[in-house]
Amino acid sequence: MSAGLVYCDRDGRIYYDDRYEPLADGGVVREVEADELIPAPPGTLEMILPGRRARTTRGSLRGKYAFAAILPAGYTRLLVPAYESEGDAPALPLFGYTFACAIDDELYVAAMKTDESEDWQPRYFAEGELETLLDRRIAADPANRVLAQVALCSREYGCFTAQNVFLERGEAALPVSPKCNARCVGCISEQEPESGLESPQARIAFETSVDELARIAIHHLERVEEGIVSFGQGCEGEPLLRSITIAKAIERIRASRTNGTINLNTNGSVTGGLERCIDAGLQAVRVSLNSFRPHAYAAYYRPIGYDLDDVLASIRLAVQRGLRVSLNLLTHPGVTDDAQEIDAMTAFLREVPVAMIQTRTLNIDPAWYFDAVGRPREPLGMRRAVAAIRDARVAVGNFTHTH
Ligand code: SF4
Repeated sequence: MSAGLVYCDRDGRIYYDDRYEPLADGGVVREVEADELIPAPPGTLEMILPGRRARTTRGSLRGKYAFAAILPAGYTRLLVPAYESEGDAPALPLFGYTFACAIDDELYVAAMKTDESEDWQPRYFAEGELETLLDRRIAADPANRVLAQVALCSREYGCFTAQNVFLERGEAALPVSPKCNARCVGCISEQEPESGLESPQARIAFETSVDELARIAIHHLERVEEGIVSFGQGCEGEPLLRSITIAKAIERIRASRTNGTINLNTNGSVTGGLERCIDAGLQAVRVSLNSFRPHAYAAYYRPIGYDLDDVLASIRLAVQRGLRVSLNLLTHPGVTDDAQEIDAMTAFLREVPVAMIQTRTLNIDPAWYFDAVGRPREPLGMRRAVAAIRDARVAVGNFTHTH
């Protein structure tokens, strides 16, 4: 089974050419191993990398531009495409570029399946169905600005947790904070002008109120017995900067409903704020990080007034207080599987047994990321990184599960 090249012409048309063997990038540019490949799963998207020549075992090819696959939810990427940028190559938008090749005229990707959840399968609305749900709900609570925000996110960004507010199912979004105390290189809600990129989503522009948040959460838990309501969404900054509001909202929710799960998605930067939310009744938390090594964390998050130690302290606190703790590990081949990274991760997991690590694909231009955090000394392969999590008796997944 030999891997054939998949490439694009300047106009984005896709070609298979098995005269060339493509190279992959796992922090070190190399040939792909057969057991790193699976047939491209349903829902895989195809993408050209403009201004970037495909690299093969016979060199990079003029006029043959690199191809990448974008994996559906539930898969962890093992390798990124290897490419050589031309001088005027434009900035790449924030996607999870994954190595792909052709075998017997079929598209294969370097990935592994790491989760399965009906809740997160793409939804297909009948003509106008979503609009009807949104309009009816907004009409019932016209003054609720948070409802207007999640309506925007449902329509414009196809956000599942926002749509769940209107579908009255699963995990519902409760965005809270317009500000953030980090400046992530790959932030999806706010990009710095010099990045040359537009952020995929517009960040919420106002401070939400206890009343608006509680009204949405109570409505959801009245209709979804095992529902999840989650503070901290892609359309906002850092929710722990508004821990007083979150704590009051939790108290208001719990004064009315005892069912379901109250969750928080956070960068874990403000341990005292997290403690306040836990005292109020928070039950689950998902902390995002790209690395367990201070330099690689700082290079990506560019934190303001906190560091990785604060994040790890928040995780420890949540485990000690008995919350359901997941880590949202922003994975990238060549960084997540660096030998030193795996050592740092397993040492922490042995001390602090979280329930799950979600091995999410970091959406960023690989060259940009390697420039920011550095290439590895010794990449061991993403499958080794995933195996190390399991060896530490921590579940691997991609979605928030309540149990
Ligand atoms: S922590 Fe979240 S909101 Fe803040 S900069 Fe990073 S990605 Fe953006």
